[in-house]
Amino acid sequence: MSTTADAGLEFFGHVIDGEEVESLDGRRFATVNPWTQQQWAEVAEGSASDADRAIAAARRAFDEGPWPRMGRAERAAHIHRLADAMEQHAELLARLDSTDMGKPLAQAKHDVARSVWNFRFFADHQRDHVGEVLPMDSGHHSYTSYPPVGVVSAISPWNFPLMMATWKIAPAIAWGNTCVIKPAEDTPASVTQLGRLAIEAGLPAGVINVLNGYGVPAGAALTGDPRVDRVTFTGESGTGKLVMSSASQQLIPVSLELGGKGANIVFDDADLDNAVYWAVEAIFRNAGQICLAGSRLFVQAAIYDEFLARFREAAEALVIGDPFDPATQFSCLASEEHFTKVRSYIDSVEQDGGKILTGGLDPDGRWLVRPTILTDLPLDAKQYRQEIFGPVCVVNSFETEDEVVHLANDTRYGLNAMLFTENLSRAHRVSDRLRAGTVWVNCFFIRDLRAPFGGVGDSGVGREGGNFSREFFTEPKATVMQIERKPR
Ligand code: NAD
Repeated sequence: MSTTADAGLEFFGHVIDGEEVESLDGRRFATVNPWTQQQWAEVAEGSASDADRAIAAARRAFDEGPWPRMGRAERAAHIHRLADAMEQHAELLARLDSTDMGKPLAQAKHDVARSVWNFRFFADHQRDHVGEVLPMDSGHHSYTSYPPVGVVSAISPWNFPLMMATWKIAPAIAWGNTCVIKPAEDTPASVTQLGRLAIEAGLPAGVINVLNGYGVPAGAALTGDPRVDRVTFTGESGTGKLVMSSASQQLIPVSLELGGKGANIVFDDADLDNAVYWAVEAIFRNAGQICLAGSRLFVQAAIYDEFLARFREAAEALVIGDPFDPATQFSCLASEEHFTKVRSYIDSVEQDGGKILTGGLDPDGRWLVRPTILTDLPLDAKQYRQEIFGPVCVVNSFETEDEVVHLANDTRYGLNAMLFTENLSRAHRVSDRLRAGTVWVNCFFIRDLRAPFGGVGDSGVGREGGNFSREFFTEPKATVMQIERKPR
């Protein structure tokens, strides 16, 4: 369990085989609170040997342990107990994410609730699922079953530390697999705490193993190991290519949820109050550190000036402050490194031909970029084309449906898009033409966990959610039975 080091810092170890442990070589690294800019905890720094230990524990738990062999209802009950434990410790889990990455506490609490729901949903989904029976004319029938695959490596990013990790762990273990999760190095705390809760909740040892450390060596060691059966990764598109390349050496199937540059389209017949509310949420929630961010906003010419004025006013009204202050709606970026990256897009706006309508850097020297709206940028500007992953919205106007569909699709990404209109036919027509894994009409960020989730192009490979997760985390199997013996 948690120990306190000499410096009075929290310590987060690895959770391997039902125990919290140090790295084999005793190495630790610092995790920093980006609001105070102070180190607040020490974390076990995983090496390839620690990864080996974690994979071996998951392998043993799968090959010899009770988890894949127990009944579906019993496994679901275990997972609900873990979800109960998370609810009991919801405040702590939320505080860990806020401390690690500067997320406003109210948003972190919302993330914890969604993380709990990830477990409850997939526990019930596997318990209640039905296979198919396929009657055949030949005197046979076929039926399908969904046995687990084995050991799942899961690698998650820092923007929704607990939520992204549980989105992977929950379906993996619900379907009877065991897993090793590596949280991002900037945000190890909440996932380690989840590993502790799994022990407390009585999950068999080795079902959820948490490996802390950097992408290389710890993450990389999980992607190409022949004892691993699936790799599920969320992070940058460039890292996703490395993960896929490594996994391909062992023919390990991958699911990749990668970057985005979401288009947000506002037609002139939209309900403007609703559109402004969601436009703000889509780019300024979590300080814009959302793969699904509506970072390219297209507004139809007839309402451009009015919409922009209202969007600006709403952006400037966001309460900026300490993530732990309950009134705070917007806070700092997750790390100094990320702040430096986001800042580079702001520093060159004028040189790149654009204007800062509002926002920019924080005058107090924090790792904070204020809610920022950019206009007048050429369509080849880096702010318009690259994923900034911060609170920076690039706004353009458009005249026609055809034009905006072309603009929205003119990106190597294709994770999601939003469109706002009160015209039902137009909503369906435009949604159909958008090259994106998810299209939200008159809303944003609402999820049904049965729906496919994933991206087109550089936004990813594969889909997860509901039966799509089932297909990935199981080995769908056909059994063909003779019913009637026919003369040969
Ligand atoms: P990242 O790619 O830098 O890191 C993600 C994870 O991969 C971390 O745990 C990291 O340690 C690990 N990693 C790094 N190098 C590795 C390697 N060679 N092998 C294995 N693992 C390695 O991404 P990030 O900066 O943590 O997260 C931000 C990115 O994640 C953004 O691009 C964002 O759009 C994307 N994202 C996508 C989704 C989605 O669902 N599509 C959701 C959230 C975030």
